[in-house]
Amino acid sequence: MERQLVSEDSALLLDVLQNSGVTVLLNQNIQALAKNEEKICVKTDSLAEFDGLIVACGFKPRTELAAQAGLSVGRGIKVNAFLQTSDDNVYALGDVAELPSGKLYAYILPIRSQANWLAGFIMGQEQSPWNPPNFTSKAKVHGFEAVHPYNV
Ligand SMILES: Cc1cc2nc3c(=O)[nH]c(=O)nc-3n(C[C@H](O)[C@H](O)[C@H](O)COP(=O)(O)OP(=O)(O)OC[C@H]3O[C@@H](n4cnc5c(N)ncnc54)[C@H](O)[C@@H]3O)c2cc1C
Repeated sequence: MERQLVSEDSALLLDVLQNSGVTVLLNQNIQALAKNEEKICVKTDSLAEFDGLIVACGFKPRTELAAQAGLSVGRGIKVNAFLQTSDDNVYALGDVAELPSGKLYAYILPIRSQANWLAGFIMGQEQSPWNPPNFTSKAKVHGFEAVHPYNV
């Protein structure tokens, strides 16, 4: 979780998981997944069988529709500091919006701030660009909590 935790907290989280009886294998390069009767096989450098599989691999904005509509896309739908896409009559915000810095603000607080700001901008009440609010994200697992400045 290198985007959300500093290394000290990462080590602490590892301890919490291991003390809960979880076997943690780091730096695994998954090469294949396959179903073998009732078991799921996961191939890394070795092959292991499991009863079930949970995939938690982050998120990726679905930009196909925007691309088909001729909007510029990168990691997300590209917007300028006014949340305008490459067609200045079309705005994007939230998980899907990629700011000029390359950042996607995938948390409720900044997205709510974008929505409020954009409503004001469209109504002519805002002239300056959207600025991300200061906020800290909090990672929580049973027996573990870490708060760090948002730095994605
Ligand atoms: C498991 C999980 C836990 C999270 N926990 C937190 C948390 O604790 N705190 C926090 O701040 N954030 C959290 N987030 C992030 C937060 O939920 C998102 O950043 C936020 O919901 C994104 O809002 P959005 O409106 O940009 O996108 P979404 O909420 O994804 O809304 C997009 C909507 O568009 C719809 N849509 C997509 N394509 C089309 C289409 N072609 N036509 C019509 N509709 C379409 C989708 O169905 C969806 O309803 C979490 C996210 C996940 C996945």
